[in-house]
Amino acid sequence: MKHIPRKRFGQNFLVDDAIIDGIVSAIAPRAGEPMVEIGPGLMALTQPLLERLGHLTVIELDRDLAARLRSRQGLNVVESDVLKVDFTALAATLGVPRLRVVGNLPYNISSPILFHLLDHVDVVQDQHFMLQKEVIDRMVAQPATAAYGRLSVMLQWRYAMENVLFVPPESFNPPPKVDSAVVRMLPHAEPAALNRSVLEALVQVAFSQRRKILRNTLGRWLEEKSFSGTFDLQRRAEEVSVAEYTALAAQIPA
Ligand code: SAM
Repeated sequence: MKHIPRKRFGQNFLVDDAIIDGIVSAIAPRAGEPMVEIGPGLMALTQPLLERLGHLTVIELDRDLAARLRSRQGLNVVESDVLKVDFTALAATLGVPRLRVVGNLPYNISSPILFHLLDHVDVVQDQHFMLQKEVIDRMVAQPATAAYGRLSVMLQWRYAMENVLFVPPESFNPPPKVDSAVVRMLPHAEPAALNRSVLEALVQVAFSQRRKILRNTLGRWLEEKSFSGTFDLQRRAEEVSVAEYTALAAQIPA
């Protein structure tokens, strides 16, 4: 039966074979690897991945699509909202230390998915996601650029990331209104040791008025935290590197 794309589930299905090949090549799946695909939909990526891997776990919220997927051999179908999936428990159930996670994500919840996976980064080998290009630009942005902000700092602290493929709207049915891209995310083996909620709070305060000098925003916050170290507050939030933010966060008690 024909499936009508559901907007509320962010359903933009990949239909361009060259792009599908490009994404699968970027992922480079090898037989037997433990992989989880978020939002398999009509199997545009699932099918070629399954052919190479032999077995694949998929997480799909749409009940009708999940029912179709269940009839496929080699697929372990988790019918759920991905934001409710405990990836650490999933890795344990599959009996593996680390998972490869991939997906053409529903764009309406892409940031919550990225932050949810941050909670489970210890069981992630790597991640390849199709996202809005503008979101990937922010993820990989360097200081002193317009795209550099909270998302850049929070993710660059924990992952090495690169934009590996540009994907135009006409590669999908229906076409989204925005350009897309594929990002590769590799967890750092030895990330700066810090409390994530401290970094989150710090970065939120710093970027709350990104055009202003940090003295009035972050400066006040650091005083409240009784911070007694040195930090140059005569700069704007976008001029501070990820390494400086993480070093500062590491000096502030939770
Ligand atoms: N992978 C397919 C492709 O590339 O053609 C479909 C991608 S489509 C952009 C997003 C997929 O995620 C859809 O299949 C949708 O039903 C599913 N989805 C949406 N919200 C979800 C959620 N919260 N948890 C799991 N899957 C979700």
